Amino acid sequence: MTTKIGFIGLGRMGKPMASHLQKKGFDLIVLDLNQQAVAELVALGATAGQSVADIARSCNIVITMLPSSVEVEKLSYGADGIFANAAKGTILMDMSTIDPLATDRLSAEANKHGLTMVDAPVGRLAEHADRAECLFMVGASDADFKTVTPLLNAMGNSTFHCGPVGTGGRTKLVNNYVAITLTQVNGEALALSQRFGLDITKTLAVLLGTSANNGQLRMNFPNKVLAGDTTPGFTIDLAHKDLSLVVNAAHAAKVPMPVAAAVHESFSQARAAEFGAIDFSGIADVICEVSKINKPRVPKGWKPS
Ligand code: NAD
Repeated sequence: MTTKIGFIGLGRMGKPMASHLQKKGFDLIVLDLNQQAVAELVALGATAGQSVADIARSCNIVITMLPSSVEVEKLSYGADGIFANAAKGTILMDMSTIDPLATDRLSAEANKHGLTMVDAPVGRLAEHADRAECLFMVGASDADFKTVTPLLNAMGNSTFHCGPVGTGGRTKLVNNYVAITLTQVNGEALALSQRFGLDITKTLAVLLGTSANNGQLRMNFPNKVLAGDTTPGFTIDLAHKDLSLVVNAAHAAKVPMPVAAAVHESFSQARAAEFGAIDFSGIADVICEVSKINKPRVPKGWKPS
């Protein structure tokens, strides 16, 4: 069988990732609940999968890019799922951010069916996925890592083989703890600056020029919340899901993370106030709105120096 790639989950991240694979010559069968996203991939030359079982039967590598463990497990297990229908030797490469314990269970079940699992969650932002500049954290055997590397190179420009299956997702939790917490810290700092009545561009110049500088403030905030654009990106709902994974994993491993718990609950409040669907940089707006402070905005065309 020639290499055939199944791609399930064509959302904010999966659609550009699958598009890069298709445009760079990989043979894709795609599936999503959203038929518009499927149609966009078909327009690029991909085939629309009829079902999960159809995809599993016809592919050597099945990629999942779904919201959470719930969807990945639902599509993997059961008579209509990936494991029951894939040929021996098929690789399931899950690129979603899910519970690492679910990854461990999926990997064990995959092996029982003669399949192998790779966990390759994605770092950086949606805009990087658009430009094929993702960073991947990969948990895989050496052989599987070699097999999936050409695919990763088509979707991104930085790949780290973190170790065996399960290490990709665990690395991702460590990374997202820092990245998401930075949005909260920046949001609080910008709210304080606004309350003080400071010039936001001067506050930003100072923060970006000292050790307070951080990736969220430099890479994400200027294009999103500071520019008044809170379309996702990465939603507050997904950030909350990742913080839940971090807090649960930390509890299980007996690692105290009081800051993670506090930021988790700030994101719980944002969701309760119906901000779950906006970009996670929008946590700055949520803090300002609750505190009746003017939202932090930079003049049109402002860029960090
Ligand atoms: P998304 O919600 O935009 O996309 C998820 C897609 O899965 C949707 O198109 C949805 O229709 C589809 N889907 C859900 N259930 C399905 C099912 N049963 N069958 C078929 N399709 C189904 O999410 P996203 O932002 O693309 O994120 C996907 C994953 O990547 C998440 O785990 C997220 O945490 C992670 N991630 C997101 C970003 C980001 O910036 N958005 C960055 C890195 C990692």
